[in-house]
This record gives sequence, structure tokens and C-alpha cells, in this order.
Amino acid sequence: MAGEPQAGCVFCKIASGDIPATVVRRTERTLTFRDISPQAPTHLLVIPRVHHSNAAELAAAEPLIAAELLTEAGEAARGEGLESYRLIFNTGAEAGQTVFHAHVHVLGGKPLTEGLV
Ligand code: 5GP
Ligand code: ZN
Repeated sequence: MAGEPQAGCVFCKIASGDIPATVVRRTERTLTFRDISPQAPTHLLVIPRVHHSNAAELAAAEPLIAAELLTEAGEAARGEGLESYRLIFNTGAEAGQTVFHAHVHVLGGKPLTEGLV
């Protein structure tokens, strides 16, 4: 069922503590941790604790939690000392989504002016 933990979902396992992660922020509804394969000096992921397969599905089901992903992304960037940063929501395998639990990437710490990807 939407919102319930999904067996085999790596981010559900991080949310429950079954898989360790370097957590930098947590709220009742969200978790922010470092990406295991960073693409920039700062590369964080902000996830909802509840399982939805992408950002749009999260926003449709839980708009307040979707909004909280953005405020947490901003707070996490501020905590990293970033004035400029990029937020990315990949949706679908052809867009590069590999983990089908909603998340936003927070990237920064180097110039990100060369293009969208
Ligand atoms: P996507 O490609 O789905 O937008 O992003 C998934 C991200 O999750 C990738 O950047 C990948 O490096 C990261 N990731 C995958 N598995 C793990 C994990 O077990 N721990 C952490 N911290 N990040 C992970
Ligand atoms: Zn999940």
C-alpha cells in the first residue's frame, strides 16, 4: 500500500535504520543523509520516511511532506554552508532514477553552471 514500507527498498531500510547512512538531519517525517556515491563535494539526499515511488506521487498523497522535503533541503544546504546549490528529483529510469522511493538530491560545493546534468 502507498506509504507503507516496501520490502527491498533501500531508502525504507535507511529510514528504519536497517541500513546505516550518514544522517545529517532528521525530522518526524524526513531524513537527510549523504549520498553513498557523491557527485559533488556536498551531495545529500532528503527522503520522506513514508514510501512513495517518486516526488510527484509523494506530492499527490502527502503534500505537506513534499513541501517539507524542500524546507529540509534548504536547511541542509545552509548547514553545509552553501549559498548556491542544485535540487534534483529524478523521476523514471530514463531520467536516471535508480531508487524508487521519493528523494531530492542536494548538490553543491563546486560550480554547477555547465548544464542541467
Ligand atoms: P536516483 O538515481 O534514484 O535519483 O538517486 C539514488 C541515489 O541514491 C544515487 O545517487 C545513489 O548513489 C544513492 N544511493 C543508493 N543506494 C544508497 C545507499 O545505500 N546509501 C546511500 N547513502 N545512498 C545510496
Ligand atoms: Zn521505500
